[in-house]
Amino acid sequence: MKNLQSFADLGLSSRILEIIHRKGFEAPSPIQEKVIPLVLQSNMDIIGQAQTGTGKTAAFGLPIMDILQDNSKSVNVLVLTPTRELCIQVAEELHSLKGKKKFKILPVYGGQSMELQLRHLKQGVDIVVGTPGRILDHLNRKSLKVDRLDFCVLDEADEMLNMGFLEDIEKILDFTNSDKRTLLFSATMPKEIVKVASKYMHRYEHVRVQNEEMTVPQTDQIYFQVSEENKFEALCRIMDIEDGFYGIVFCRTRLDADRIAHRLLDRGYDADSLHGELVQSQREKVMGRFKNKLINVLVATDVAARGLDVSDLTHVINYALPQDPDAYIHRIGRTGRAGKEGTAVTFITPEEENKLEFIGRKTKSTIRREKLPKIRDIIRAKKKRIHTDVQELIESELAHDLLPMAEKLLAENQPEQVLAALLKLAFAEELDRGSYNEIRDVQPVISGKTRLFIARGQKDKMTPKKIIHFIRDRVKIQPDKIQDILIQPEFSFITVPFREAELILKQFNTGKSGRKSLVEKARPK
Ligand code: AMP
Repeated sequence: MKNLQSFADLGLSSRILEIIHRKGFEAPSPIQEKVIPLVLQSNMDIIGQAQTGTGKTAAFGLPIMDILQDNSKSVNVLVLTPTRELCIQVAEELHSLKGKKKFKILPVYGGQSMELQLRHLKQGVDIVVGTPGRILDHLNRKSLKVDRLDFCVLDEADEMLNMGFLEDIEKILDFTNSDKRTLLFSATMPKEIVKVASKYMHRYEHVRVQNEEMTVPQTDQIYFQVSEENKFEALCRIMDIEDGFYGIVFCRTRLDADRIAHRLLDRGYDADSLHGELVQSQREKVMGRFKNKLINVLVATDVAARGLDVSDLTHVINYALPQDPDAYIHRIGRTGRAGKEGTAVTFITPEEENKLEFIGRKTKSTIRREKLPKIRDIIRAKKKRIHTDVQELIESELAHDLLPMAEKLLAENQPEQVLAALLKLAFAEELDRGSYNEIRDVQPVISGKTRLFIARGQKDKMTPKKIIHFIRDRVKIQPDKIQDILIQPEFSFITVPFREAELILKQFNTGKSGRKSLVEKARPK
């Protein structure tokens, strides 16, 4: 088991520790453990070999936010990303890490209005996150200056290489001051990237997140593709179809753990959450209740679950993907112990298919795709359980004291009517289809759906409902065709079938010159 090194040991200031606390991160990920102290305590350049999803944005974002001064007149940090979506994602993550500092962080990508970018750049920006083509555009126009950088970050360098940006990157680096520090992140290290590193970087430290040789426990591993908003419903279905569910639901942050546990309690499950915020006595109480099966579902973060010694879980649910293959093994290793077969269930959104494939490959495990149980399957399973329970009660003669009442009811009615009424009385709620919400099948990204980018977000008071109205005011499409709505501060995303996407794009792109399109095709991640 990895040693539990906390963020405080990495040399971050109390201001940044407070931000981390508010985000609900409990412990640094492996890449963060290695990169953060290097950025803070040395002057070296860094190559970090890590995948997305390993927390690498915070690995460079946190120490940079700690070092950076907010009284500068020039761009201090340039982050280059291969795609528009990653650009937006990184800019948002950095925004969430800046706390009260007045850093201006600007995402700059192709497809977005040039005018808007020029205006923002003119006003002064501290951190620019951009895709290579558009950044180079600005450098050539002299609307962006990168000759006073403290840091240049190349994110997903191998992806930028694959997408043919190598030449652009070299041109961009030629514009930068040579005394900046360069942090290069890449999942793989093809020779072209090594070449760029030796040409443009100073003495650098090569940080790799160690891939331990991993042994997969005897666990049946399955996954479901489910959109973020349907994960909770999916969780309820899995718990309900099982006989004697006893499991841990893993999520990323303390806030998620609390939120999911509360929703489970509201829906009548015996649940509680376990995270690093609890004091020792609370922790012990929750663990005791779980071990004694007073609660049968525990919602936990990775860190909090480390000290938990339970051996007979029926399920481990990865509500959010773990940060790396190593964490996956630690999580699922909690089932299938003591010779009992357990099930490890992982939820992924369609965009996370590659990440799961990577985890499966690294851990040499077969993770089977399954379909979520349908409501009728759950009701059928519940009826079967009731049947067995009733049969057992009859055989045990434990209900003998109620025989006189039964005889009276039978004397006055038909036996099947009596039984049906009793079943209704006891199980009406449990067998009600209405207690389940519908889950629409998520389609793989490639099969007939398009992700659209909408230049309206929380700042325009957008909600999922309002986004649907916003589209349907202009285009007559069925509301249920609009799926996976994601509202961000400045913009939103939706997913629609190809045909609807075409109608929407046509309607919103009237070609009036000089006007920015409100809706565009989202770039693939
Ligand atoms: P990234 O690899 O940078 O794309 O990060 C993946 C996700 O992990 C982001 O949603 C981060 O907010 C989250 N994250 C990063 N570091 C941590 C951490 N130490 N604990 C929990 N979540 C984290």
